[in-house]
Amino acid sequence: MTVRVRFAPSPTGFVHIGSLRTALYNYLFAKQQGGKYILRVEDTDRTRYVEGAIENMINALKWAGVEHDEGVVLENGKLTQKGEYGPYIQSERLDIYKKYVDELIEKGHAYYCFCSKERLDEVREEQKNNGQTPKYDGHCRDISIEDAKKRIEAGEEYVIRLKLPYDYNISFYDVIRGNVVVNTNDLDDQVLMKTDGFPTYHFAVVIDDHLMKITHVIRGEEWIISTPKHVYLYEVFGWEAPKFVHLPNILNKDRKKLSKRQGDVAAEDFRKKGYLAQGLVNYLALVGWSPEDNQEIFSMEELIEKFSLERVSKSGGVFDVDKLNWINSHYMKEASSEELVKICIPYLIEEGYIKEEEVKEKYEWLKDMVTVLKERIAYGKEIVQKVDIFFKTEIHPRDEEAKEILKLEHLPHLLEVFKEKVEKAESVDEVFGKAVFKEIQKETGYKGKNLFMPIRVALTGEVHGPDLPLMIKVLGKQNMLSRIEYVIKNLL
Ligand code: GLU
Repeated sequence: MTVRVRFAPSPTGFVHIGSLRTALYNYLFAKQQGGKYILRVEDTDRTRYVEGAIENMINALKWAGVEHDEGVVLENGKLTQKGEYGPYIQSERLDIYKKYVDELIEKGHAYYCFCSKERLDEVREEQKNNGQTPKYDGHCRDISIEDAKKRIEAGEEYVIRLKLPYDYNISFYDVIRGNVVVNTNDLDDQVLMKTDGFPTYHFAVVIDDHLMKITHVIRGEEWIISTPKHVYLYEVFGWEAPKFVHLPNILNKDRKKLSKRQGDVAAEDFRKKGYLAQGLVNYLALVGWSPEDNQEIFSMEELIEKFSLERVSKSGGVFDVDKLNWINSHYMKEASSEELVKICIPYLIEEGYIKEEEVKEKYEWLKDMVTVLKERIAYGKEIVQKVDIFFKTEIHPRDEEAKEILKLEHLPHLLEVFKEKVEKAESVDEVFGKAVFKEIQKETGYKGKNLFMPIRVALTGEVHGPDLPLMIKVLGKQNMLSRIEYVIKNLL
């Protein structure tokens, strides 16, 4: 048996990080098992149609590195489909659903329902008032096919409902939750086909998973309550059901489902803030799944090797932005200067530190600057909180500690010596940055804290900051000289 799994989003236009994690787990499982991972678009709810949504979602998945083998793909910016089991967009499969729903009607497992919305609302209201759980009362269950067809020909609107037997136990096994048994008395006669001729999710999902030969349905836990209806459909069609794996939700700190109202929830939001795909994906893998040891940093290859459905937890995982930042910083440190500068430049432009037209000319310098700061930022956008030291023209001590350092008795002498060395230097690269302190120490006897700290404060106004020799290189000769002069003139 070849493993075949699918990620089946509705085209809302963005990929919630919970969905990205679902996609990721499907992908990891497929790759590990030497199987296929499919992207199917579930667009049967026409009221929720969003222009360009599919393209956006595919791009987000591509950015994350969670790419599918089969299904809806973007080729040169154009949507196409790849694979032998298409179409992979549900709205292009209407004739298929019609054929199968007709079969159910013929066999007596589904029926036409003509109840108006008003009637359904009334029934629901009454049930609620009687303390019952609202559900369809079966009003149309026994209309004969002939009568129903006459009414349809006369132009009456209808839906098609699943005819569940009374008091019948439906059971299935969920890989994470174990055995689940539900009695049909607790279920509704689910609508399978809507008045607009589109199937509902519940019907289309079964038909498609079967025809696309899906072996494992790995999806969010919100679907587990619907699974019995799906399982019943497999039963009446006489099809073998796939294995079910319902993943726990990603929760916020209050242990509620993470929602858009709480800020960043879309993969796209994190990309826009300059997170690295590896960081986000590595972090998401760990929300809900735990490896056997305490490893926390995983490449995609390692995830593929070590991931297992058995180690996915039953309870929801809390989304912890600090941990995400910690993991992402790891990848920031590892990233190449080219990659980092590409990520950071837009934020520097946005904040007015540089102009778009200056980028080319200053590229090498920007690259050095970003490299110097990469230890100090968790994600790209944070660069704007750290670059100030490279752009300011006046030095002001940031805090009391910095002020105290500027009062040191030997500071004027130290600055004179440093200034002279900078003036004489042909280039103030990293080598200079390292050598200059050794020389000053030898010549003046100033060392350690009395040497590095005053220079750092004089150059930046701050007691903390990036590696000094590297910083000196990025600041450059003229910049350093004018800063030292400023300090000598104004602060001593
Ligand atoms: N279209 C459903 C969704 O939006 C898919 C659920 C499933 O995977 O069966 O999440």
